[in-house]
Amino acid sequence: MKVGYVYDPIYLKHDTGQHVENAGRLEAIISHLEQTQLIHQLMLIQPRAASLEELSLVHSEQHISRIQEVARERGGWLDADTVMSSESYQAALYAAGGVIRASEAVMQGEVDSAFALVRPPGHHATATRAMGFCLFNNIAIVAKYVPAKYNLERIAIIDFDVHHGNGTQESFYDNPQVLYISTHESPFYPGTGYIEETGRGEAKGTTLNIPLPAGCGDNEYLSAFKQIIVPAVRRFNPQLILVSAGYDTHWADGLAMMQVSVTGFAQMVKIIKVLADELCSGRLVFTLEGGYNLTALAASVKATFDVLLGNTSIEDPLGKSPRGLTAPSIASLIKKIKEIHNLL
Ligand SMILES: [Zn+2]
Repeated sequence: MKVGYVYDPIYLKHDTGQHVENAGRLEAIISHLEQTQLIHQLMLIQPRAASLEELSLVHSEQHISRIQEVARERGGWLDADTVMSSESYQAALYAAGGVIRASEAVMQGEVDSAFALVRPPGHHATATRAMGFCLFNNIAIVAKYVPAKYNLERIAIIDFDVHHGNGTQESFYDNPQVLYISTHESPFYPGTGYIEETGRGEAKGTTLNIPLPAGCGDNEYLSAFKQIIVPAVRRFNPQLILVSAGYDTHWADGLAMMQVSVTGFAQMVKIIKVLADELCSGRLVFTLEGGYNLTALAASVKATFDVLLGNTSIEDPLGKSPRGLTAPSIASLIKKIKEIHNLL
């Protein structure tokens, strides 16, 4: 298995100060991949800057100019929780361009799968605004770029970040060529992602939300994956699978209230990999979204690479959740979602 990763020190220049989404996240990931020697099993894919034309596949001209302008003014806050520095615009261009490069490497067969280790993250950014630590919607840009360039008709996006990817959902709400599936804590930021949100017009059914109550752990996530995501992706039969990989679903993450373990992420990634092997010649591109406990983040990203490489032993230094939250019953929720999406 040839597995690629995108990384460049430019991503550290998006300087957010003491913010939870800071450069230390990528530094922790890279240093863990180095310490464990796993990095030597991976192929480095050099990122490039996304062009204005590529950003415009998703974003309005006003939004792009606004980010340029704030960078010129040496940074500032874009909303209550999204901040940028003078070099953030450049880093954001490379984040979108990095995921584009990862998708090109996979589509051109240079690697079997790839993971873009980029920041700022993207899945909350909408066409017209930055929000939730995101400036440009990296994965949405790629899901528009790839079909045009490689003549694809169907792309699936799986988003297991603990937050709903409102920006990604919005980008494809009318687009039947992109299946967007999200598991997320609900009720929670950003307040979207209800089961009734399923897409519009011709795209009805190609948005699939799995809002989960706080306290869900490996068992609940794996049930949702096996009972909903697997049949939905199989039915859609994508030619490429993109993943918004957010590791704030881990029990040690301070931002949310879920109880997934590193082992749980590895099992979810394995399910996604099996789907990609079965449906789209293994073509699979991951991009980093959230994940704010540095130990959990680094170990979970490494576990993701291990699964993509076909390594069978997964190290889980943190183990199962000691949070002791009672895992909620989600059987009736799963049943309802299956009914809404005719997955019975
Ligand atoms: Zn998140």
